[in-house]
Parts: sequence; C-alpha cells; structure tokens
Amino acid sequence: MTTRDATAVLTLNAGSSSLKIGLFSAALEAMASGHVDRIGGEGSLTLRRADGALLALPDGVTADFSDHARSLATAIGALRALFPGLGIAAVGHRVVHGGPDHRGPIVIRGDALARLAAFEPFAPLHQPHNLAGIRAAIDAFPHAVQVACFDTAFHRGHPFVHDTFALPRALYDKGVRRYGFHGLSYDYVSGALARDWPALAGGRVIVAHLGNGASMCAMKAGRSVASTMGFSALDGLPMGTRCGQLDPGVVLYLMQQEGMDADAISDLLYRRSGLLGLSDLSNDMRRLEASDTPGAREAIDHFVFRIQREIGGLAAALRGLDGVVFCGGIGENSRMIRARVAEGMGWLGIQVDPGRNAANGPVISPDGAPVTVLTIPTDEEIVIARATAALSAQKEQVPA
Ligand code: ADP
Repeated sequence: MTTRDATAVLTLNAGSSSLKIGLFSAALEAMASGHVDRIGGEGSLTLRRADGALLALPDGVTADFSDHARSLATAIGALRALFPGLGIAAVGHRVVHGGPDHRGPIVIRGDALARLAAFEPFAPLHQPHNLAGIRAAIDAFPHAVQVACFDTAFHRGHPFVHDTFALPRALYDKGVRRYGFHGLSYDYVSGALARDWPALAGGRVIVAHLGNGASMCAMKAGRSVASTMGFSALDGLPMGTRCGQLDPGVVLYLMQQEGMDADAISDLLYRRSGLLGLSDLSNDMRRLEASDTPGAREAIDHFVFRIQREIGGLAAALRGLDGVVFCGGIGENSRMIRARVAEGMGWLGIQVDPGRNAANGPVISPDGAPVTVLTIPTDEEIVIARATAALSAQKEQVPA
C-alpha cells in the first residue's frame, strides 16, 4: 500500500520494555490504542477501543514480543485484523531528546536518525528505545512518513539564565544544559488553555504534570520560560521511583564512600527512589493514599512540600501568577494532593474550593480567587498525531 491509499496516523511511544500505540483516523479521531508490556520477557498486548473498552486479540494473529520490531508487528497485525483495509500514512514517535536545537517536531529522513542517536548519551535509558521504535516502524511501514516529536522541544525557548548550570562554559557548549521534559503534555495544555481559557492562556501559568514522572512548567503567554526538570528526567519533583532534585554531593558520597558505580547509582536514582524509596511501600499514589504507614504519609508530605516549594520558584520566574493547572494521573485524579498543594499557598493567591475539587474541576478555585486553578486531562498522543499529520501533509507538497 502506498501513502496515497493510506490515511491513518499511528503514534508510537517506545520504552525499554514497553510500546504504547495510538491509532487515529485521517480526521485525527482516536480509533484504538495498544500497550505492549514486558518486551523481551513474557510479553503481553492490551488493545482498547477509543472509548476504553478492551478488545480481544483477534484469531490468527501470532503474538511475538521478543523485541520491539516483533512487538510492533504483533500489534499492527491485530489492528489490521480489527480494522480491515487499514493503511498507515504516517507514524509519529515520542522521542525524549531533541538536543539543543530542535524546537518542534521533524520528519525522519536523510541522516536524522543518526543525529538523534547522538543524543543517546543525554538520555541513555530512553533515547535508544525511542529510536528502536522508529527503526521498527520504518521496517513495518517503509512508505509512511515518520515524524519525531520531542519532549524537550517545548522548552527550547528558555532564556539562558534558566538553560544553564553554573558549570564551565565548555560543558554548556557540549550540551550540558537544562532541557526540561514532558513537553508534549505541556504543549497539549498550552493549546487547551488557548482554546478554552484564552484570557488565562495569555498570562502567567504554572502547569503541574503529576504522574509516575512528574514535573512543572512555568508558562508565560503559552510558552515555557522555566521547568523543574533539567538535564535529565531525574531533576525537580520527587516521582514514583525517581529522586527529583538532589545535591550533587550525594552522588559523590555514593561513589566515594559507598563504592557505587554509575550503573548502581543510576538504578538507585531512577528506579528505587522517589515515592517508592521514601515510603518503602509503593511508587503508586493510590496505594500510598490508602495506606496508614508513617512511610506512606511522609512520602506524600515530601511530594507535596516539594511541589509547593517549586511553585514558589516558578512563580518568581514568572514575576507573579495567574493560573495553576493540574494534569497527569495524580494531578487529574487525586483530590487529596490538589487540596494539600493549595494548603498554605493563599499568600500566592492559590485557593481550592472543596466542592469543585471533589468534582474534579475543570475549575477548582473559588469564584474571584486571584489565581485560577484548573484540572486539564492531558493527551500527549493527540499532540503527536496532530504534528505528524501536519508535517506529512507538508511533505506531500514538497517531495524530499
Ligand atoms: P505515567 O507518568 O506513567 O504516564 P500516569 O500519568 O498514568 O503515569 O500517573 C500514574 C499515577 O497516577 C500513579 O501514581 C497513580 O497512583 C496515580 N493516580 C491515578 N489515579 C489516581 C487517583 N484516583 N487518585 C490518586 N492517584 C491516582
């Protein structure tokens, strides 16, 4: 099938052992989603219709999850059986790192993949898997347009003062900068604000993306001016299993006194810290909220305190505050965390109305409050799908 016959858009988010797939119609309506887990292990594929209903693996589809390429082939086989005549015109990829220069999505052609591979050292736990997803998709859909959408791109307009660490200039020039991540989610929220809350969209807004990964972004007139994540996706807020902001002296101590090497420290900071490490119970906020252990309580206390502290810092970067938006699994669903974050933040104008908060918003601040507080369910897949459709339409007009 050529791109001329094909109309659907696929989105791919490839992790170390997982693959998230979104299928969109030509009109960019969500059709289905797929989630492959435990690639290289026992592997499984969960397929859902756009309304969330589970879809059974169709008869005759061979399930092979031994690597990314075979997992993608399995998922595509299932989608083709479920949607006869399906033709994929373009595939949009979530790529964690676009390096210092990419301020928006790009079409993968020429040496683009090799250039993105040069950023693997900046995000060794994510970038190689994202690129493996692109290679698998090129093999599966050689005629489709492939588009890379970067988690870093939304933040690349940061002013120098926020972009740099106080390290020798040569390291900045080599790319050791504060990049910021979760940019696709912030891009979605920025668009939703412009559409539904135009007065606020023109102002100073802090967006709190609180999920397993968590960060916050200070936006002025819809553009990122600062964020809590820095060079890696470890910085800023504590997360499910990641430490958040850490004195670099701790890393030196772990090396020099505890004899830990880079792999052991990486495992500690990415997989065994955050809510899990502090609570000694779970990385999952629902479990912590339901638990009465001191560890669970202290982990939540620390999470809330760090959010409040960073709100103070981001409000200073914005020179004031007009709005706060909560998104991500915790931000969209946890009434308790939203209420706790607002507690004691009245000095900055942040107030939460208990009834509105219990109803999950979208507005959860009282009428007339100085700061409008919202919940906005984020949607990174539709951001990828829209960018992919837009770039592939341009590419059809201008042949490579
Ligand atoms: P990811 O970063 O992996 O995309 P999500 O955005 O899905 O993660 O967020 C996962 C987090 O959201 C988990 O900690 C989960 O417990 C939390 N969460 C989801 N629903 C609720 C809820 N109703 N109350 C509290 N926390 C919730």
